[in-house]
Amino acid sequence: MTIDTSLLFIGGEWRTAYSGEYFDVLNPATEEVIARVPDAGPEDMKLAIDAAMAVQDRFANTTATQRSKILLAAANLMYERADDLAEIMTREEGKPFLEAKGEVAYAASFLEWFAEEAKRVYGETIPANTPDKRILVIKRPAGLSLAITPWNFPAAMITRKLGPALAAGCPMIVKPSELTPLTALAIAKIFSEVGLPKGALSVVVGKDPVSLVKVAMDDFHVRKVSFTGSTAVGKLLMKQAADTMKRVSFELGGQAPFIVFQDADLNAAVENAVIAKMRSMGESCVAANRIYVQRPILESFTDRLVAKLSALRIGNGMEDGVQVGPLIEPAAVEKVERHVADAAEKGAKIILGGSRGIEVGYFYQPTVLTNVTDSMLITQEETFGPVAAIIPFDTEEEVVERANHTHHGLAAYYFTRDIGRVFRLSEKLQFGILGANDGLPSTAQAPFGGIKESGLGREGGHHGIDEYLDVKYISLGGILSENT
Ligand code: NAD
Repeated sequence: MTIDTSLLFIGGEWRTAYSGEYFDVLNPATEEVIARVPDAGPEDMKLAIDAAMAVQDRFANTTATQRSKILLAAANLMYERADDLAEIMTREEGKPFLEAKGEVAYAASFLEWFAEEAKRVYGETIPANTPDKRILVIKRPAGLSLAITPWNFPAAMITRKLGPALAAGCPMIVKPSELTPLTALAIAKIFSEVGLPKGALSVVVGKDPVSLVKVAMDDFHVRKVSFTGSTAVGKLLMKQAADTMKRVSFELGGQAPFIVFQDADLNAAVENAVIAKMRSMGESCVAANRIYVQRPILESFTDRLVAKLSALRIGNGMEDGVQVGPLIEPAAVEKVERHVADAAEKGAKIILGGSRGIEVGYFYQPTVLTNVTDSMLITQEETFGPVAAIIPFDTEEEVVERANHTHHGLAAYYFTRDIGRVFRLSEKLQFGILGANDGLPSTAQAPFGGIKESGLGREGGHHGIDEYLDVKYISLGGILSENT
């Protein structure tokens, strides 16, 4: 698959940025410039809005079957071109090739899922309060939608929004992260080949997200914004959305506890801890950030985890056998270093890793810390790196309280064979996604999303499409009169 990375996809056309400027995209494994992409600005965003408005009504009136076919065709092209897409992703984001390929399949699964959900946007009839009336509920597209996406899942965070938006009949403008514009342009290329009406998708790539996003946030025509990224930026966008009362969905930061009880299947708990910690080098919103282990199994769990993590091969994700790639940028490595140094200063022991390991590229070795306490930065902030912080606990009540002691509420994991405890924790843990004996709960069928400062709204599942639909009702009077 070849994409011309020197052009933007706006209103169904490939064009240069209004400014004529470009910016560099780096490979975090080599620190080399791998592409120069157009630097879109406010004028380009405005063009995307105008193109979407021009097609909005026509697109809203296409049939669900037509939209479903477009989404399925795009999903199929993603599967067919998985190797190419994965290579683009590995080169700009760093995750190992096989993991990137897994993300392509995960991303395509949202298009497939919503291709089916498009056909199930059902209405309702509701018994009225007088004999001569009937109440009918219908759902209509919410209108032009803006997707603002992060770099850590450069494909899936786009399709998790684009799938339901197009399924519902909403045009969408995608503003991807400036760190991973190439995957976004590759997705645009796929949609340019499957018969999507011009203007129903624009991908606006620019290095200054603030001015670019502001144009869309200030524009009344944009009726919906779906953002995945940090809680800090989510709060800013929520304030900006207030002026034109846009609908919002926010998928924000996490601070996931991973709790292992002494009655757990220890092998399964360790295997899943590796997945929940190391997927995307720990740069995942649902990454296990605080690993609570019940004291009687502390040593055996720690030994097994160290054995697994020390066997992982770190390096350039395009090399065979590499399981851990670089972090996204120098600031990400510095944050991990800050968390590890703070923990060590406050009494944590570094029993594996604890340094960058490779000189060129933004690498950090898989690291295990023990003697971690709740007063350390690593238990209070999202680390977003390959550091497993192990924290002992004694009782269920204690660990639930400690796990909930955060403003975040995205994912929590717990490992136990006690079915009563599974239910108790499901109810008591204040998180939107609960991995009960499961370190990888994300899937297109399920309503992904957080509570508290981890977000609003849900993506995926049959719930995901509701975020792009307005509910209207018709109160039909005069039913009993033949003259009406
Ligand atoms: P970020 O908030 O810095 O950026 C996300 C997007 O917002 C990017 O497209 C960026 O260009 C844009 N942006 C940044 N500042 C902006 C501003 N002032 N105004 C408008 N737009 C702005 O986040 P990131 O570093 O790209 O991603 C990492 C964060 O995303 C982590 O906190 C992670 O937990 C979160 N995340 C959440 C989920 C989820 O589903 N809950 C999934 C993936 C990532």
